[in-house]
Parts: sequence; C-alpha cells; structure tokens
Amino acid sequence: LRKFSQKMVKICCIGAGYVGGPTMAVIALKCPAIEVVVVDISKPRIDAWNSDQLPIYEPGLDEVVKECRGRNLFFSTDVEKHVAEADIIFVSVNTPTKTRGLGAGKAADLTYWESAARMIADVSKSDKIVVEKSTVPVKTAEAIEKILTHNSKGINYQILSNPEFLAEGTAIKDLFKPDRVLIGGRETPEGKKAVQALKEEVYAHWVPEDRIITTNLWSAELSKLAANAFLAQRISSVNAISALCEATGANVSEVAYAVGKDTRIGPKFLNASVGFGGSCFQKDILNLVYICECNGLPEVANYWKQVIKINDYQKSRFVNRVVSSMFNTVSGKKIAILGFAFKKDTGDTRETPAIDVCHGLLGDKAQISIYDPQVTEDQIQRDLSMGKFDWDHPRHLQPTSPTAFKQVSVVWDAYEATKGAHGLCILTEWDEFKTLDYQRIFDNMQKPAFVFDGRNVVDPEKLREIGFIVYSIGKPLDA
Ligand code: NAD
Repeated sequence: LRKFSQKMVKICCIGAGYVGGPTMAVIALKCPAIEVVVVDISKPRIDAWNSDQLPIYEPGLDEVVKECRGRNLFFSTDVEKHVAEADIIFVSVNTPTKTRGLGAGKAADLTYWESAARMIADVSKSDKIVVEKSTVPVKTAEAIEKILTHNSKGINYQILSNPEFLAEGTAIKDLFKPDRVLIGGRETPEGKKAVQALKEEVYAHWVPEDRIITTNLWSAELSKLAANAFLAQRISSVNAISALCEATGANVSEVAYAVGKDTRIGPKFLNASVGFGGSCFQKDILNLVYICECNGLPEVANYWKQVIKINDYQKSRFVNRVVSSMFNTVSGKKIAILGFAFKKDTGDTRETPAIDVCHGLLGDKAQISIYDPQVTEDQIQRDLSMGKFDWDHPRHLQPTSPTAFKQVSVVWDAYEATKGAHGLCILTEWDEFKTLDYQRIFDNMQKPAFVFDGRNVVDPEKLREIGFIVYSIGKPLDA
C-alpha cells in the first residue's frame, strides 16, 4: 500500500445516497487535504448533488456541501475514472432485501455490491483500500476479496468494514460527533496497516481516539446488523407494552419513563409509536434472520423475527383502531394523514409505516388526504403502488389498484388535508404537528372528529377539551 503521507489522498465513494452523500461531505469538510469524489450511476442523483436542490433533505447538509463542493468535494457519474484514481474506495451502494430466488424476502441483495467490486477490479491499476460502508451480511468481505483478487493481477486490495451508524434526520450531527467509528480489518500486517491508514488519514481528523474502535472484519460487519436489531427491538418492546397499556389503563409514557430511569436500561428509543420504518431496521433484521437460518440457528432466527412481527402487529393494530373507532367502517370517509416520512426531519419514505396504514385504510375504501412537509406526490404514488411485506409471501407485490389511487390526494398544508375530514392520523412526529391550530382543524372537520396520534406528539387532554375523540398509542382511551 502507498505511503499516504507523501501525497494527497484521494477518496472515491461509490453510491451518492443517504449515506454516501452526507458521509463524504463531512469527510471533505473535516479533511481539507483529501480529495473526495462521490460517484453514482444515477445521473439525476449526481445532477441534484451538483445543484442547489440536493437529492435528500437533511438538516445542516446544505451548508456542509456548499462549503466543500468544488474545493475538495466532487460529485460525478464518471465512476470508472475516479475509482481508478482513488487510494481509498468507500462502497456505499444500496443492499436491499432480495425479492426473488434463494433467500427471497430475507437475504440481502448484493448485486449492486458485486457489480461495484467487479468494476473496481476491472479499472484498478494501483493498490486500493476498499471500505464496506454499506450494511452487508457478515462474511461479505470474504466474497468481495475473492471477486477482487480473482479479477485483477498484481494489485493489493485490503478490504475494511466501516459500517455507518448515522440516523437519517440527524445525519450531520451524528457524523460530526459519532458515538463511535468502527473499523474492521484482516488481522494480517497489511490488514492492520489499512485499518491504521483509514483511522489516521481520515477519522482521526475529528473523531477522538477513544471513539474509534478497531476489530476484526467479521465483528465489524456483524456489529452493524446487531446494533440495528437492538434498536428495533427496543421499539418493538415498548410497542408490545403499549398494547398492554391500552388493555389495562396503564400509560405507556409513564411506563417507559419509569423503565428508562433504570440506568441499566436508559431512556432512549423508548417512544411508543405506530411502528418503526426506514430502509434499514426491517431489512437488516431480515438479513440477520437469514444468516441465523443459514448457520443452523433457527431459534435465534425466530427470536429476531418477532421484532418484525410485533412491528407489523403494531401497524395493523393502529389501522384496526381507526376503523373500529369510526363505527367499524371508513368507507367513503375522508381521513387526513399528517406525515408520510418514516421519521421527522427526513423526506425518506422507505418502509414508512404510513404505507401500511394507508394500504389498510384504502382497503376499507377510505378517501385519504396526505400532507408531509418533505415528501412529494410522486414519492407517495410510487410507495403506495409497491407491495408490502408478508412473511408467507415475501415481498410479493400488491399494487394499489388505479381505482384505489383515486381515493388518495396529496396536499401541501395540514389544514387543507383535514378540511372536511372525519378523522386525522398523525404518522410522523414533525415538530409542526405539535403547534397546529387544532381548534381551527376541529371547526373544519366532520363530527365527531377523531384524532389518531401514531407518534404521541399531541396532548390528548388538550385535544379532548376542544372536542376531539383522541386515540394515542398506549394511553388511556376516551371514557
Ligand atoms: P441509497 O439507495 O440512498 O444510495 C445508494 C446509491 O448507490 C444509489 O444512488 C445508487 O444509484 C447507487 N449505486 C448502486 N449501484 C451502484 C454502482 N454499481 N455504481 C455506482 N453507484 C451505484 O442507499 P443508502 O440509504 O445510502 O444506503 C446505502 C447503504 O448504507 C445500505 O447498505 C444501507 O443499509 C446502509 N445504511 C443506510 C443508512 C440510512 O440511514 N439510510 C444508515 C446506515 C447504513
């Protein structure tokens, strides 16, 4: 491997998505002596990164990109050129769940990764450090090594696992001050040298030494899957308790507060909700389930499966609550959906619980009117046309019929969405939903006017005083 200190280090990141874009922007900001080029096969995405309208919404991202773009941060579709020139190649391509063939519905689809690796092998003329930034199944580095070494001669590749722990909505904050940076490498002298190079040339510029963890490759790969599984498990745990709260008169916020005060448990990630979404939790747990099954560990696989099953149950429980509260049918009734993104401060709708809730309501012939400050009509149309997950028929497509789409409107204002509605569902915890003029909303809704708060963002008592019938997750119901 080259002696980096003697020349300007060049980084190329393959994949300009939610991870590749922000991560590389922060590396460019913190390491002005490094040239960072983010490449992608999607021209519209790269064009957007080079414009004033970045392809993703993330607080603080615009400022970081503005400062570095054109200085030492570049976005390009010239994938091969920049890969060939790079010393360190981050691969941050998507690794979705396989939709067909062996492991369909659970295993990670590594076709994007494999084609990136084959391309690296094709164009490389110098030694490379190849960094797994995408979340991948444990042992992926072994496969990548085979592809690289069998397809090129005389080039030394060191594969590192450097999974990304940022959360959408707080990506820049998380990247500036990560809880930890994890780097896994081969335990050979060259592997150790590569780990050191990534640590010293890149992360040491702003991450304190004690927050940079180095491990073997398999620990790093598995830690990412385990971390997401643990986070999702906390949500499913509190959601499971929320169902019991509703049945018994306990209040899930009080229970979560009391439980979280135990320092062994801690208060974070204990908010009951309509369910978790996002492109990672479900995909990574499915991946973990598949890996357990492949390794002859069906009991462990079943344990993690339950995390997803409870999440599905929570979403269907919410839909059932809406329908049963509204006199057992929503047919022909207008329901406002406030929030479609899977969480606040992002426009990302991948695996958002809103998709399943809308499917459920459309199935009972509701008219739905959707408002989200960051989600476009095109996105919603695409999301509602895609299938939903089903254990028995993994990832089969259940397109919303064209007739059903006539039941959907997308508007740009919460007041417009709720005008004339029989009920409103809050599905994303956007701050602006806390301060809406609920009296005005009430006045313009059909009566009785229902609020179904899937994120526990509104004060149910205040809304009841106005006259709403309110359902909050895991809280006592109206008398
Ligand atoms: P994304 O879909 O937003 O971005 C992936 C990009 O890779 C796309 O723009 C795609 O066009 C590009 N791409 C695919 N194949 C390519 C190729 N051969 N050459 C060049 N470009 C190619 O995905 P993302 O959300 O950024 O996630 C990327 C990875 O990071 C996934 O493995 C994901 O699990 C992981 N991850 C995501 C998050 C998150 O919050 N989104 C957090 C941590 C880890």
